[in-house]
Amino acid sequence: MNLGRSASDVLIVGGGPAGLASAIAAARQGLHVEVIDAMKPPIDKACGEGLMPDSLEALAAIGVTNLDQILSTTENHRLRGIRFLGDQTSPNPLTTEAAFPQAPGRGIRRTVLHQILLDRAASLGVRFHWENSVQSIAPTAEGTVVHSNRQTLRTRYLIGADGPCSRVATWAGLTEASIHSRRIGLRQHYTIAPWTDFVEVYWSNHGQAYVTPNSSNEVCVAFIANKKFPSSEAALSHFPALRHHLAASQPNGPARGSITLGRKLRRVTKANIALIGDASGSVDAVTGEGMALCFRQAAALSLALRANDLALYQQAHRRIQRLPTLMSRSLLLMDRSPRLRDTVLRTFQRTPWLFERLLQMHIGYSPFQSVSMESLHVLTG
Ligand SMILES: Cc1cc2nc3c(=O)[nH]c(=O)nc-3n(C[C@H](O)[C@H](O)[C@H](O)COP(=O)(O)OP(=O)(O)OC[C@H]3O[C@@H](n4cnc5c(N)ncnc54)[C@H](O)[C@@H]3O)c2cc1C
Repeated sequence: MNLGRSASDVLIVGGGPAGLASAIAAARQGLHVEVIDAMKPPIDKACGEGLMPDSLEALAAIGVTNLDQILSTTENHRLRGIRFLGDQTSPNPLTTEAAFPQAPGRGIRRTVLHQILLDRAASLGVRFHWENSVQSIAPTAEGTVVHSNRQTLRTRYLIGADGPCSRVATWAGLTEASIHSRRIGLRQHYTIAPWTDFVEVYWSNHGQAYVTPNSSNEVCVAFIANKKFPSSEAALSHFPALRHHLAASQPNGPARGSITLGRKLRRVTKANIALIGDASGSVDAVTGEGMALCFRQAAALSLALRANDLALYQQAHRRIQRLPTLMSRSLLLMDRSPRLRDTVLRTFQRTPWLFERLLQMHIGYSPFQSVSMESLHVLTG
């Protein structure tokens, strides 16, 4: 079948962070890009709403230029670092914190981030098809024909950025994966002046609650656990210190839930189809690295598209996923074993420089090798 004159170079299914980042990066390579999404903007989703410094760096690198200026005129909150708080019901609760080494991170509402990405993509000439749910795809010799509930589109390259239950992955036969964790997240906003400029991670035997200040009068709380919390109120009952902080606040809007997977796909490309973002595998939400992954993958994918060689993306994707996956597994070990968690938090409290080093490594400021064997011995006792 001839794709015809109306075919795009790149059609992206999914206009979430991964799809929009990918659209920006590909359009900057001079490609004609279209995005199709079942919803319409601004698209919201359960998320902790924290952008680590490396996420911001990756965002600037794909072409969201003058990011500092944009952030100075939109609602968000500077994030100075990460604070871990152990079980607050114990007589001597453990607390440790580490500042980000160079630039701060940002807490930013999901819908605000979506609008920033959307504006940048539109300024680069990306075409959007909102409220179009993709129903099927048909590969051809020259590309792919895509059928939505409203129209038929043709493209040379098809990108699946359609989230963790990606239908593009299923249609392309790219679902072979190893799943190392499956948990459930619940997000709730609270109207309150943030009491900290750290992302606070509260640990308990019932999962984690992490707090991200995202404006001068709002915090976002994400609860992550193995079992579904029936409500944010029920979730808070496991985190008394956090409940105390929030006593004078009001929940703002409804809670939103979502699954969070630690998942690695065997392959993320096939012929002229590539997967990106959660569609291409993911790390547990507690890492706060989901969006950094999307943005880094977008940069790598745009280079592969320009070179007309998706194998380059397959290799880069594997590299990009490696460290966050390791961190995700380590944090989940702390979730599963109260004893290990206690040992690690106690060690961090005693030797805060170790927590600082690990945070640097987590956000890519320090290569793995620089965490010396000495530091690992301190950690394991
Ligand atoms: C509770 C929780 C907390 C998190 N906290 C953080 C955090 O603090 N920091 C961080 O960096 N990451 C965090 N993450 C991870 C982050 O939210 C994800 O990595 C990110 O949303 C992935 O974006 P995406 O674009 O790949 O997928 P999505 O955001 O899921 O977007 C997929 C898009 O595809 C569209 N779509 C799906 N199917 C179709 C179809 N058939 N046709 C058309 N459109 C379709 C959907 O409408 C949607 O807009 C968190 C995740 C969870 C669950």
